[in-house]
Formats: sequence, structure tokens, C-alpha cells
Amino acid sequence: MPTNANNEKRLQGQPLSEGCAVSRVCLFNDGRHSNLPMYRVEGTGMKREMERVRRAMKIAGERLETVRDKVEKKIGKAEAEIFVAQKMILEDPALTKDIEGNIETGGTNAESAIDQVLNDYEKRLLSIENQYIRERASDIGEIKRRLLDVLGNMRPSLQCHSEACRHGRDRIVVAEELTPSLTVDIDMDHTLGFVTEHGGVNSHAAILARSMGIPAVSGLPGLREQVGCGMELMLNGYTGEVILWPTPETIKQAEIEMDRVPHAPEPEPSVNGFTVMANVNAFSDLRDTRAQAADGIGLYRTEFELLVAGRLFTETELFERYAAVVKAMVGKPVLFRLFDIGSDKKLPFLNLPREENPSLGWRGARLLMGRTDILRTQARALAMCSMGHRIHIMYPMIVDVEQFLKLKAMVCDAIRDIPRGEILHGIMFEVPSACLQAEAMYRVIDFASVGTNDLTQYLFAVDRDNAMVSGDYQPDRPVFWKLISGLAQAARKAGKPLSVCGEMAGNPEYAEKFMAAGIASVSVSPRRIPAIRKAARDLIEKR
Ligand code: PEP
Ligand code: MG
Repeated sequence: MPTNANNEKRLQGQPLSEGCAVSRVCLFNDGRHSNLPMYRVEGTGMKREMERVRRAMKIAGERLETVRDKVEKKIGKAEAEIFVAQKMILEDPALTKDIEGNIETGGTNAESAIDQVLNDYEKRLLSIENQYIRERASDIGEIKRRLLDVLGNMRPSLQCHSEACRHGRDRIVVAEELTPSLTVDIDMDHTLGFVTEHGGVNSHAAILARSMGIPAVSGLPGLREQVGCGMELMLNGYTGEVILWPTPETIKQAEIEMDRVPHAPEPEPSVNGFTVMANVNAFSDLRDTRAQAADGIGLYRTEFELLVAGRLFTETELFERYAAVVKAMVGKPVLFRLFDIGSDKKLPFLNLPREENPSLGWRGARLLMGRTDILRTQARALAMCSMGHRIHIMYPMIVDVEQFLKLKAMVCDAIRDIPRGEILHGIMFEVPSACLQAEAMYRVIDFASVGTNDLTQYLFAVDRDNAMVSGDYQPDRPVFWKLISGLAQAARKAGKPLSVCGEMAGNPEYAEKFMAAGIASVSVSPRRIPAIRKAARDLIEKR
């Protein structure tokens, strides 16, 4: 590893999300409760353990209130409700009674009693047929972790043993892998950056980090063995460089870099003849979408909200949420993508089966066809929004005409009894087999958007989540542009809309090639809108 005279250690990783950060490391440890202290108690020892339990419940309850307030302000009321529900479970006298009973009869310590009682609750919930009740099992696991965090003096989700890591404030999180749930789970207000051993630039977690404006670098295997909580670290999300023990000169240089790119770029007016819409992953994106006066929402990743909330929403909750987005966009199109669950977006509370090869497994359209309960709830909520508004429903991971028609029939069946307005049914072109039958697809769909992230993955057989093969994750090749031209041609022939919503569309370097291939509409991360509009305007003026 390169070191300089001042013992600075420089590592080259892969940039995932722009920005620079200098702070202390907090090591994320998912298995932090795997070595719980377990000991026998008797007499006054039992009383002491019961007091520890009550104190832990009080503190965990207070933390839950703080999280609820924060989530309500930052993300939304519905997402915050999960913490209200957890607090109610925590405060249920039956829970205290069961844990104290376990200490009394078993002579166990607080950690052991909490572990046993809550594991037992979780198991019982998981065995119940009712889907909603089964999903509450994840709340029980969460409550257990919160109680054990208090007893072990740990910060939620982080292993912070010392003052040195500032108890998780203003930290740089170092983890094995950046997963979507870790990204949303970690207290964003106090996270200045992420550095991970694995995780590709087009993974959903990286997309989320970019949405939240948190700098991130990955592709540094073995990093967790080289760093400890509290160690000073600098990361550069533009170049992928990570520096352990940075010198004051290095930090100064980084500060210049940090000033280079403003966080919220100045809006750029719309471009005549080129549509630039926004990709929305989180509530904060909606704010930026409006600030940038996007020409619409070209990809609403509806599944991310479930990930943040840690549960499914009811039909009414979804309706309220979607109706608010449609209203906020005042007549501009909103392409609602049906939940694209699976692969790296496994929603933990769904307890989906483990798969050897999840990106080729139960994901997107396939999963929706197998989980009709989830599909029907979302379809009904969208149909309810269509009164007075034209609604675009976009189907993820469609492989061919037959599959699209089958899924569409299921959507139509779900909304049969709902009074509704105009609904357009479209697809993501992100699986090569669908692209290769674009003309036939256009005979049955109303619109489409190209998902270049997955299209690259499946076209070149290269994992979008794996930093080891990120050098090969390179769509800019003749065969890719040939495919894009073919899609644009099919769209023109059918007289139906086509846009591009993968991460590539947000890179001004590719604007010329997309335009040359016949693309006149893209959807990008809201902060990228000004750069893309500028690039498109320049190219149009040059013609
Ligand atoms: C894509 O695959 O390009 C896409 C936009 O969808 P996602 O990144 O959510 O898979
Ligand atoms: Mg995709």
C-alpha cells in the first residue's frame, strides 16, 4: 500500500457518489450482537438485571421518538409511523412481564432474556398465515436490536466503542458492502461519507447515496482490517481515492476540491426539442425535481419508499403518496414504475427466499406476478390517482410481449371495479430479449424507457453490483449504441414515446451519442438536470 513520509496511506477505490469528506471512521458491524454476554444470576442479581431491562426500555423508547421525529421531517409521516408502532410494542406491559419472567424463572441476565423472549415472539409471528402480521416480525427484531444496543452501550447500527469515533456523529461509515437498507438505515444527518469493500457504481445503494448527496467510494477489499473506529480518513468521491491518516496539507487540498462542485446546481431552463425529466428515489429528489423545473418524472422508483419505511403500505397510503406527487408535478408526466423488488433490493420484511443468482431470479415483473397481493395494492392506488390525471404505469424487467400482456391483464383485473381516468401502460427496456423485439413490444405498449443500468448488466453479462468487474461494466460499445438506435427507430415507427432513464443518461459525455442514436428524452438524477440541459442545448445549436 503506498505510504508517504507522514505515514499517510493512499488507497485507490471506485468512486460511487461525488463529494469529498474528511472525518473519523465508524465501523459498521452487522453481527454486533453475535457475542452477547450470557451469565446466570440469582437473588439481588435478578433484581439488578430487571432494572437494566427497564432502563434499556426507557432509553430505547426515547431513541425511537427521536428517530420518528427525524424521519417524519425528512422523509414523511407514513414512514415515521413504523417507529410509533415499535414504541407501542416496546411499551406493552406484557413484554416487560415476559422478559422479567424469563430472568426470574431461568436465572438469566438481561441480554439473554431479551434475546430469548423476542426471538420467541418473532418465531411465533413468522408462523402466522396472515401476511401483515408476519411482516411485523421485523419490528420485533428491530426492537431486540435497539434494546441490546442500549445494554451494550452501542450506537444503533454501528459499533462505536470509544469517544474517538464521536459516538457516530459526523462519521465516515466503513462497511463490507453498501446495501440499500444500510444506506437508508444509517442516520444520514451524521454520515459524511461511505467507504465499502464491495459494491458497484450502478448498484441501487450507490444510486441512493447519490440521491442523498453523500460521498461514497467502494472496491477496497480488506479495508475493515486496516481501519478502526476513530481513525481519521479522507475520501474523494470524484476520484475514488481514500487516504488513511491524511496530513493537514492533504486535507487542505481536499477542501479546495470540496468547494469545487456546489451541492445544488443552479437550474437551467428547458431545452426546445430535448426533454429532461427526473429520476425520483426519495422524497428529497422530489424537492430537487421541482427546484430544477424538470420536464416530468421519468422514473419513480416506488420500491425505495418501502425500503425506507421497512414495511408495505396500504392502498390508501400509496394513493395519498402518489396523488401528492402527481399534484406536485402540475400536469407534467410521472412515470410510476411498479415495485421493482428483488436482486439487491430485497425488502428484509418480506422474508424472500435466498437465491444463488438473484439478479437472474425472482425480481421485477416475475416477483410481481408471484406476489399478486403486492401488485394489486399498488395497481389500485395508481388507478385511484387517474381520476382527472393521465397516469403512466411502467413495468420493470419485462422480457417479452407475452409476459407484458400477462402482467397487464393482472393489473387490469385488480383495478376493474375502480372508477378511473386514462392509464398508459409502458415498460422498461432493460432486458435484451425485450429490446430485440422492440417493434412487437411497441404494438402492445403505450410508452417505454431504457434502463441502461440493467441493460448493460444483462447485455454484457457483467454484474452491476460487483466492484471486481466494474472495469468491464462499460456500455459505451458499438453493440450497445446499435441496440439504442433500434429502440429509437421502433419508437418513431410506432409514434410512441421513448426515454432513457439509466445512470448513463445523466452523464453529459454520452449526450451526443444518445442524440445521434435518435433519443430526444432522458430522465436523470435531479441534480444532473442542468448539466444535461446545457449539453443538449449546445449540441442542438451546433447542428
Ligand atoms: C436501470 O436498470 O437502468 C434502471 C433505471 O432501473 P434500476 O436502476 O432501478 O434497476
Ligand atoms: Mg433496472
